[in-house]
Amino acid sequence: MHPSILCNLGGMSQPAYEREPYRQEFVSTLQRTGTEKNRPFAVLADTIFYPEGGGQPADRGAINGIAVTDVQKREGEIRHYLAAPMEAGVAELKLDWNRRFDHMQQHTGQHLLTAVAQDRFSLATTAFHLGESTCDIEVDSASVDLGVMEELEEAVAAEIRAARPVSIRYVKPEEMESAHVRTRGLPEGFTGDVRLVEIRGIDINTCGGTHLSSTSEIEMVKLLGKESIRGGTRLFFVAGGRARRRLSAHEVRNSELRSLLGVADADFAGTVRGRLEEIRQLSRSVRSLEEELIALRVESLLSSPNLLQISEFEQRDGAFLQKLGRSYSERAPEDRVLFATSVAEDSVFFVLALGKGSKREGTRLVKEVAPLLGGRGGGSGLVFQGKGILASGVEQARKLLADLLGSAG
Ligand SMILES: [Zn+2]
Repeated sequence: MHPSILCNLGGMSQPAYEREPYRQEFVSTLQRTGTEKNRPFAVLADTIFYPEGGGQPADRGAINGIAVTDVQKREGEIRHYLAAPMEAGVAELKLDWNRRFDHMQQHTGQHLLTAVAQDRFSLATTAFHLGESTCDIEVDSASVDLGVMEELEEAVAAEIRAARPVSIRYVKPEEMESAHVRTRGLPEGFTGDVRLVEIRGIDINTCGGTHLSSTSEIEMVKLLGKESIRGGTRLFFVAGGRARRRLSAHEVRNSELRSLLGVADADFAGTVRGRLEEIRQLSRSVRSLEEELIALRVESLLSSPNLLQISEFEQRDGAFLQKLGRSYSERAPEDRVLFATSVAEDSVFFVLALGKGSKREGTRLVKEVAPLLGGRGGGSGLVFQGKGILASGVEQARKLLADLLGSAG
């Protein structure tokens, strides 16, 4: 797949977005309306809205104040999908210009990047993707050195500074050879004129997209990184305002990290690595202390003669209580029942554990107890657990359990 696309739109051979890519407002007339998968759409006599194609996303904006949610070429016409149906007559078009200009910067930036990568670094572009936050080209090389990426970015920056004019012209397919067009593959059965975009002195290519009028307007192309893909390499980049906005976001994030970590930018990674290692060690230590706590608690519960064993904790989660329940069930006599609770923040966790070999209906006990704690519970075998929001219900739950176990004998 090549990023280039061709101008071939039946009757509307040269829509306004191709003639005047900088036009932000336009007046046209409605040709027909329709619906596609319950989405109302409008077809106009002419349009400044670019339909998705060639790697460039569709424009947004409004027609007669109705939001344009998508624009697509379908069956030889351009459909403007609308938030609500529109009425016949005059259509006043208003483009979401910030979005379009961003696309023009990314798209024209890609033309320049592709041309420089091929001519000076022998890296041929096989695909282009213009995403919401980043763009990428795929090049036909299994690996691209970081040094090459730096040189490529420098070479592109030089052509941006050179402010090379970017222009559009139309030629017959048979004139393409003499026009020195980079790619000449036309779709099967293509007829009509071929649209060429030229970056003076750099590149002539077939394309139906919207372009800036000078490379200076790209502002910059910043390579972000690379990724191996299907025997080739994907090079990520952002151009223009996107690169500046990305830098702004980096600065805001760095400032927050500086104040959180209390170190300079260059020490972020080392500091975070150290903190993560500390957390790993602390987690190991907490786990081992929990195991000791469970063993001691179970030992003390087993030494008590009560049928219903009560145990309470603070700031322990459901997983801790389940471990306690399992450990208790393995060792307690069959007539014993453990009811353990833990209040942590706005929640109360609980576990009901039955002694080994118990025939009691744990499911029924949990169903009686859970509502008093404002929650739900479940489980099977000997260990049942749950979570609620009413710490105040713990006392009532214990009484109910004592009654239930007492009446059951
Ligand atoms: Zn283009």
